[in-house]
Amino acid sequence: MVIVMKSDAKQDQIQVIKKKLEGLGCIVHVSKGENNCVLGLVGDTSAINEGQIEAEVFVDKVVRIQAPYKRGNRLFHPDDSIIKVDGRTIGGKELAIIAGPCAVESEEQLITIAKDVKLAGANFLRGGAYKPRTSPYAFQGMEEEGLKILLEAKKITGLPIVTEIMSVELVDKISQYADVLQIGARNMQNFDLLKEVGRCNKTILLKRGMSATIEELLMSAEYIMSEGNENVVLCERGIRTFETFTRNTLDLSAIPVLKKLSHLPVIVDPSHAAGKWWLVEPLAKAAIAVGADGLEIEVHNDPTNALCDGQQSLKPEKFKALIDDLRIIAKTQNRIV
Ligand code: PEP
Ligand code: MN
Repeated sequence: MVIVMKSDAKQDQIQVIKKKLEGLGCIVHVSKGENNCVLGLVGDTSAINEGQIEAEVFVDKVVRIQAPYKRGNRLFHPDDSIIKVDGRTIGGKELAIIAGPCAVESEEQLITIAKDVKLAGANFLRGGAYKPRTSPYAFQGMEEEGLKILLEAKKITGLPIVTEIMSVELVDKISQYADVLQIGARNMQNFDLLKEVGRCNKTILLKRGMSATIEELLMSAEYIMSEGNENVVLCERGIRTFETFTRNTLDLSAIPVLKKLSHLPVIVDPSHAAGKWWLVEPLAKAAIAVGADGLEIEVHNDPTNALCDGQQSLKPEKFKALIDDLRIIAKTQNRIV
């Protein structure tokens, strides 16, 4: 951290700030030129409240050199994290392909889709039992009945289950059925929920909020990790921009940026980014080409009658063709599907 003093700061005022910072456990190097003075801080600056320092009358500005996230930071963990989930991995050589319907609608629907996506090459099954819907009148999910169906599909296909959790009270219940708890875009900054899943022993799939910066996403991961759960997977799922043709704008650059800043696995959800089924294929291919560790894709056997997100769901045949194409792109990244 570097603190730039105002040009009219006097020696005794500089000393007051220096003492205050030293009191917080930092080593402070003072560099004084003819007109300006900067204080260079060495040591753990995480306890420093930047706002309080910047509020000092003789401080011009505070510049953070190190990122505010520690546990997710690649600086302190140079190797990629490989997360083990029920005999599978996320972040290793094999791409994580999470596929399934937006929502569990019935046993027949889910089991049909689960078998299809498994055959096509998926290694995880997704399906929402508790759905975050914009309208309170829209289908809200099958709740615990949906969780039971997910577990049934797992018994048949062996695919580990990924499902969304929206509230603190449901952590124990959903953990009895699911292998991966998904924190949706709308809850990326639900800090109580982040802390609660940080205390459970499940892998957490953390989706980027629709208006969240990359640093905010990493700070949300930090909330989970700081409670002890290091098994966090980041997911880029498109952000809000001025463009309205697509549901969101897939921020492809976030993938190499996140991989550079963090050791955590990064996957992409092209379905919620695009909002249109025919855009899923090119976006999924692009995501793997820029280094994503996997994909989360909505697949439905009957999109025209889907209770949720039919417009962006791939039919199983299209999903299979996509996975076959992805095998070629994965090779260029030294990955396998
Ligand atoms: C979902 O994956 O079902 C979902 C609601 O996605 P998001 O939170 O990214 O909108
Ligand atoms: Mn959906």
